[in-house]
Amino acid sequence: MKYPTKASKKTHIHEKDTPPISELRQDAVSGDWVLIAPSRLKRPEFFAKKEKIRNLLPKSRCPFENPQKSGNAAPMLVYQKDSGKDWFLQVISNKYPAVGPGHCGVINRRGHYVSQAGTGNHEIVIMRDHDKHLAQYTAGEIKRVLSAYQDRYRSLAREKCINYISIFHNHGREAGASVPHPHSQILTLPVVPPDVGRSIDGSKKYFHKNRKCIHCAMLADEIKDKKRIVFENKMAIVFAPFASHSNFELRIFPKKHEAHFEKMDKKELTYFAEALRQSLRKIYKGLKDPSFNFFIHTAPTIPHQDYQHYHWHIEILPKVSIWGGFELGTGIDIVSMSPEATAAYFKKI
Ligand SMILES: [Zn+2]
Ligand SMILES: [Zn+2]
Repeated sequence: MKYPTKASKKTHIHEKDTPPISELRQDAVSGDWVLIAPSRLKRPEFFAKKEKIRNLLPKSRCPFENPQKSGNAAPMLVYQKDSGKDWFLQVISNKYPAVGPGHCGVINRRGHYVSQAGTGNHEIVIMRDHDKHLAQYTAGEIKRVLSAYQDRYRSLAREKCINYISIFHNHGREAGASVPHPHSQILTLPVVPPDVGRSIDGSKKYFHKNRKCIHCAMLADEIKDKKRIVFENKMAIVFAPFASHSNFELRIFPKKHEAHFEKMDKKELTYFAEALRQSLRKIYKGLKDPSFNFFIHTAPTIPHQDYQHYHWHIEILPKVSIWGGFELGTGIDIVSMSPEATAAYFKKI
């Protein structure tokens, strides 16, 4: 099943009538969407591939030390440090967005090709401390970061033309971080991304057949099996997935069934934050600060759709190997570190 924009009617996402900054194109055969965003190339750092990004952008020239002084608009959200003397994190619009204003829900057809404007919001969640890795945060600090994601998620979900909100964190150049200063990103899309769409379809099919959540069933298996569990507390669980896509991959699930990340309450957030902190700490220590990505997979924001069969979670993928021709050509990832060995390794750290 494909996820075109049936749910969103033709609407202006913002008042501005400027040409779209990017274009979503649909693969005519697979139905998968890609985002063509040439304006992102304005980032000069993208060309300097060989130098380590850390050396390229020292703290003295870091645009995130004082985002407003570096030409960014006022933040849409600020959390203060406990001392009250400085900010802890702030959320701003990305100066080099991958999506932007435009008419959404207008499908263009050129021969066999289908495309639409890449409309949406692209925000950055900037942490105050330049040199502090998320793995060095306390569980309480991680909880505040997750709270900020939720705050922004809830606001963005109310806007028109948004079918999915993607929240992710890139650390290190190999993971796609063009600025070394710790930051996460929030990007809204007028379509459901292919990976999420496939998972939604899979869990929906299982639910209709078995009347239960496939993810809850997998968690029960993992708890029984114990072999792939890395960390567990009262309300969250971290494990190396049975069919991992990369070496040292970890997934964090809330134990209580919930399709929507933004609905997690403060108590669950406390336990989930501890699980995320432990995961990041184990990766940081065990693999000596590798580049990594983590992202939230949650239910789409399409109104009047029931996603109760889905179960939100976070996936963390350390960038310790590079995709070769086989992986790119077949979609089958070769993983040399078995998930069971990954769990055994991280458990000890
Ligand atoms: Zn900085
Ligand atoms: Zn579930």
